[in-house]
Amino acid sequence: MILYKSKFINDFNQKIYDQEMFASNFWDSPCPKCHETNTLSFYGRYFRSLYTDNGIVTIRVQRCRCSACNSTHAVLPSFIIPYSRISVDDACEIVSGDPQHLDNIMIRLSIARAAILEIKRKFDIYWKNLVYNPYSFSDLSSFCIRSFNLQFLQIRFLYLFLIPT
Ligand SMILES: [Zn+2]
Repeated sequence: MILYKSKFINDFNQKIYDQEMFASNFWDSPCPKCHETNTLSFYGRYFRSLYTDNGIVTIRVQRCRCSACNSTHAVLPSFIIPYSRISVDDACEIVSGDPQHLDNIMIRLSIARAAILEIKRKFDIYWKNLVYNPYSFSDLSSFCIRSFNLQFLQIRFLYLFLIPT
C-alpha cells in the first residue's frame, strides 16, 4: 500500500482522488515490499468506499504492480485506514469522544453504533498504549507509519509506504 499525503475533506470524490494521486508521482517512490525504484506501473483499479458527512463516497482506487517482485499496491490518501470505511479524522473523534460525542458521529456519518464501538474497542486493545491521545499529533498518519509501519488503527500488517511532501 502506498499512501500520499492528503487532508480529509467531506466532499472527497473521484476527481479529487485522481488529481491528488497523479500529483503525488507515486510511481517514482520505491516499492513498499522490495524497495526497488522505477519498478511501479499502473495495474487496474478497484472500488473503495468511505463514510463522509455527505454519505458513503465510492471511488475507484488505483493499484500498481512492481515489476521486480510482482507485488501489487493500492495508492490511497493518507486519511484512509486499511480495511475500514472510517477516515483517520473520524476515527480520532470516535476514540477521543465521550458517549454523547459518539452519538453525534453515529448520526453524522449514518453508521451503526456497533461499528463505532468496534473502532473504540480496537483502539483500546491495540493502539491506546501506542497513541494515548491522537489529537496530540500534528500528523498522526505520518507518526504511525514512521514509528510502527502501520496506519493509525490498522490491525493487519501490510507493506506501507508514505510519499513525503
Ligand atoms: Zn517490489
